[in-house]
Amino acid sequence: MRYSHLFAPTLKEPPKDAVLKSHKYLVQAGFIQQIGSGVYSFLPLGQRVLKKIIDTIDAVMQAHGAQSCLFNFVTPAALWQESGRLEKYGKELLVFKDRKENDFVLGPTHEEVATQIAKAHIKSYKQLPLNLYQIHTKFRDEIRPRFGLMRAREFIMKDAYSFHTDLTDLDREFANMQEAYNEIFDQLGLKVRPVEADSGAIGGSKSKEFVLLSPSGEDTLVACSNCAYVANVEVAKRAKREEPLNVPQAAFAKFPTPNTPTIEAVSAYLKVDPFFILKAVVKKVLLENNESQTAIFFVRGDDSLEETKALNACKALVPALSLEDMESAALKKCGLFAGYIGPYGLKHLLPNALVFFDTDLQEADSLICGANEEGAHFVGVDLSSFEGLNYQDIATAQDGQICALCGGVLEHHKSIEVGHIFKLGSKYSQSLGAQFLDQEGRACCFEMGCYGIGVSRLLAAILEQNSDEKGCVWSEAVAPFKVVIINANTKDPKLNALSETLYSALLDAKVETLLDDRPERFGAKMADFELIGCSYALIVGNKAKEGVFELIKRHGLEKKEFSRQEVLDFLQGA
Ligand code: ATP
Ligand code: MG
Repeated sequence: MRYSHLFAPTLKEPPKDAVLKSHKYLVQAGFIQQIGSGVYSFLPLGQRVLKKIIDTIDAVMQAHGAQSCLFNFVTPAALWQESGRLEKYGKELLVFKDRKENDFVLGPTHEEVATQIAKAHIKSYKQLPLNLYQIHTKFRDEIRPRFGLMRAREFIMKDAYSFHTDLTDLDREFANMQEAYNEIFDQLGLKVRPVEADSGAIGGSKSKEFVLLSPSGEDTLVACSNCAYVANVEVAKRAKREEPLNVPQAAFAKFPTPNTPTIEAVSAYLKVDPFFILKAVVKKVLLENNESQTAIFFVRGDDSLEETKALNACKALVPALSLEDMESAALKKCGLFAGYIGPYGLKHLLPNALVFFDTDLQEADSLICGANEEGAHFVGVDLSSFEGLNYQDIATAQDGQICALCGGVLEHHKSIEVGHIFKLGSKYSQSLGAQFLDQEGRACCFEMGCYGIGVSRLLAAILEQNSDEKGCVWSEAVAPFKVVIINANTKDPKLNALSETLYSALLDAKVETLLDDRPERFGAKMADFELIGCSYALIVGNKAKEGVFELIKRHGLEKKEFSRQEVLDFLQGA
């Protein structure tokens, strides 16, 4: 490709709203163009990288037995109604009507479609197992699209769906896909690790996320510094906390605590470690039938409520969709006073509320809790005196706390989720009535798995991992070109001739080459090489007339001089 023909509209400045370097560089270097909020087009450079990522994923998925399909993007809402997700999925699902007033959804994920296909064609255990995948556009009406390709509304995903006779075979495929993912990320030059995760709106019994450690990540993972335990903070476990030495010594009593509506204030007023103070978090639980219910979560004063764990605790009891904060005014209406909420009399005040206690509070005594009246707390509270409390793991496993498996120290890291694999079981095959006949001729529902990779997010993730302050640094497997020949002076006929012959030789050798034949200054061409991130720049300057060619590796910007033949050999082999 000649640079003079390449449509790569670079910008002097990155977009104003860009925070992440990947977002800045992808737009500034002309890989992508924003068309609307969370909606991007891929320009030629972006498309080259995208295609390489897709080719890598295709090859590995197929080597692991999956078959490539292209599912529909627009799906009749009736299918989502049947699976029960039309209401459950929430506002990220874009629903619209056609001219005949029929409802449709823009696919945010394709479990329903894949299950429908299996239902139509798989009649016997002899046709199983099957793994179908596609690499295609998804739409999720994200509440806060941001960070460019990282959190878009329209994005590209690889999604695979597998069908099995039984759970043992699903386990085998789950492991097979985990292997495939390791190979894919390895080939893409990404340092990714699998972590225990929550299954969210997809559902199922077990899931693993593939994440990349990055300070710019939106997710938090909890890793043990001693053993292999690593999990998304949404599900991370911790050992029972050790009780501090300064246990408050008080008999059970109500105590006036004026103006202490925060844990800090009560702690200072009573001179008590927040460990011993019961913190109440009240949420409105939105239910599938559009109604709502109140939930009260109790954790230790120095713990915080983990929202995903809290939602999962509610889901075990009611068809909960999401949790919303409750303002003090709304609390007052329920007879609760912000900062003074406790378990005493709660059943009387709010007979229908869901009430949960964090597992770390099991058997806890010497506690302080709100007295459900303004300016008063109970001291000397012993939770074992209550009957039938619902203890659940609802608190965040904090940085520095202790690993439940080995006693090591837990550490928090920011991370980017690039893939997620799920054991769905028969959730979708049951709701959609997708059955096959087993060896004994009995009708059984498929056991299913599904396996996602954020294909377009990968461009951003690779740049977050590799880029420097000058621009894009791609993994060699996905760089838009392997080498750019930089002709230092296009007015010099000798350099032009040298550049042209090198260009032909590299093209003949099937090396992906960009010839920078633009009449620009050498400095400007170098800056574009650094911004776009071809793997190498081959400099054709005055030294080239004596047969010396400088090759600059984009990763680390190391320079090395070669003879003409050496550089051709190197680029062919590298
Ligand atoms: P997240 O927690 O980041 O919202 P998710 O758990 O909802 O993601 P999955 O349903 O597991 O996502 O989708 C599979 C993959 O698709 C994710 O691992 C991620 O890489 C990618 N992905 C999800 N949402 C987006 C988005 N809004 N923009 C770009 N990629 C996305
Ligand atoms: Mg996920």
